[in-house]
Amino acid sequence: PNKSLPQMLLETTTNYPQNNALSFFGRKFTYQELTKAAHGFASVLQKKGVQKGDRVAIMLPNCPQYVIAYYGILIAGGIVTQVNPMLVEREIEHILNDSGAETLIVFDAVYPRVKSVQANSSLSTIVVVSLQPSEQTMEDYSFEVFMAEATGAPIPVEIDPEHDVAVLQYTGGTTGRSKGAMLTHRNLYANVLQSYEFFKEKTNFGKDKFLTVIPLFHVFGMTACMNLGIFTAAESILLPRFELEEVLQTIKNEQPTHFPGVPTMYVAITNHPKAEEYGINSIKTCNSGSAPMPVELMRQFEGKTGAKILEGYGLSEAAPVTHCNPIFAERKPGSVGIGYPSTDYKIVDLGNGTEEVPVGELGELIIKGPQVMKGYWNMPEETAITLRDGWLYTGDIARVDEDGYLYIVDRKKDLIIASGYNIYPRDVEEVIYEHPAVQEAVVIGVPDPYRGETVKAYVVLKAGKEISEEELIEYCRKNMAAYKVPRMIEFRDELPKTNVGKILRRALREEAANLS
Ligand code: ATP
Repeated sequence: PNKSLPQMLLETTTNYPQNNALSFFGRKFTYQELTKAAHGFASVLQKKGVQKGDRVAIMLPNCPQYVIAYYGILIAGGIVTQVNPMLVEREIEHILNDSGAETLIVFDAVYPRVKSVQANSSLSTIVVVSLQPSEQTMEDYSFEVFMAEATGAPIPVEIDPEHDVAVLQYTGGTTGRSKGAMLTHRNLYANVLQSYEFFKEKTNFGKDKFLTVIPLFHVFGMTACMNLGIFTAAESILLPRFELEEVLQTIKNEQPTHFPGVPTMYVAITNHPKAEEYGINSIKTCNSGSAPMPVELMRQFEGKTGAKILEGYGLSEAAPVTHCNPIFAERKPGSVGIGYPSTDYKIVDLGNGTEEVPVGELGELIIKGPQVMKGYWNMPEETAITLRDGWLYTGDIARVDEDGYLYIVDRKKDLIIASGYNIYPRDVEEVIYEHPAVQEAVVIGVPDPYRGETVKAYVVLKAGKEISEEELIEYCRKNMAAYKVPRMIEFRDELPKTNVGKILRRALREEAANLS
């Protein structure tokens, strides 16, 4: 499949001009309006000097301006540079300098952070989006003032879908320094088509509605909500943040048909006392990804809401999805399912990664397919380590069963080695989650003078539940091999998370290392 994303948008707009593309707190935008705005935005970018291949950064929560800017940048031939609005100055500066972006579209709440690093970057044009009426005076453009310069037609730019980079997707940095994965138009379009092929029985062109609450600046939301939604002429109901009551009310009022989410969102819904009253069972697919979905929590969510979770797996470097539990074959809880169409994968040894390991054994997951990135921006050495002979080395430890279902065990970097034993945090977490008092749990390795590392768990208890550290350790002792049992358990009111909702193991590890 070789199509640019602007071509994809145009096709849908030609076929479904009057269908709603976006909905934002009741304000609707048809495909025709979206395309017109994106073309207008592109024309202004070109007036300001943006040329093919220039990086243009977006730092916005989910809102219509995000989608307009994203497609506007692509129509102008630019490369969308995704910046998470939660980042702090040092991190923003890194992405601006690494990408060399000269233009940025930013949300007013984070504008001051951008201004404070502008002098250390090559940023010359800033466009500020205010989601609420704002009196803020500034030397930069407001989105409306910028758009007022639009002409109807931008200068056409030739796009080669196979080679031209559409997006620099900066990895979330849960494990280290953020790298820009170069995703071409083909990578992104391929992942949309693969997703569609996989779920076409649940697709109704021009009729579906996506609950778009996972952030679009993250690769999962970008593909699984925005781009797949546009391909299927669906309406995206944009929510800028996950607020439980608002999400439930939106489900009740708008009756979305698809709700891609991360495990922590489904957990929050499960724990709502009246979750069964919002018509969640009318959602056709709840695609869970980004982080492991503990089996016990999946069971609870489904029991309470009547909706079905389809867990999948992906990463920024693969635009992102490579595996998912199917609707046309068996679904296996705990597994991330089978390979997407045209996706090859192998489990190789954890050493050099050259030998394929037998079925059922653990190794590193490697992937080949049309969705696999071109490389990391400006990082030839990192690229050579990650992409070898066309195979993407994911850094994830996994196994495959006899039916070809994939199980993600952990990240190579999260593996705990205590007294020479390999301990997979997920093994321990799954057991802790089965305890009725536990709402959330995460396990890390902390430095230990005798064992090298030792296991520590951080646990959030369900409201109104109580259990002591000793009791929970005792429970673990009964349910897992002795070497895996956490030596320490710390109770917290909440766990540190990325704003995609992934538990930030790195933050806990750093905290623990500073204490020791
Ligand atoms: P970084 O790679 O810098 O740590 P990140 O976590 O934000 O940042 P992403 O590309 O967003 O990077 O995440 C990809 C990773 O998320 C995968 O490599 C895998 O470890 C994890 N992941 C995704 N889906 C699942 C899943 N269903 N089960 C377990 N892990 C998952």
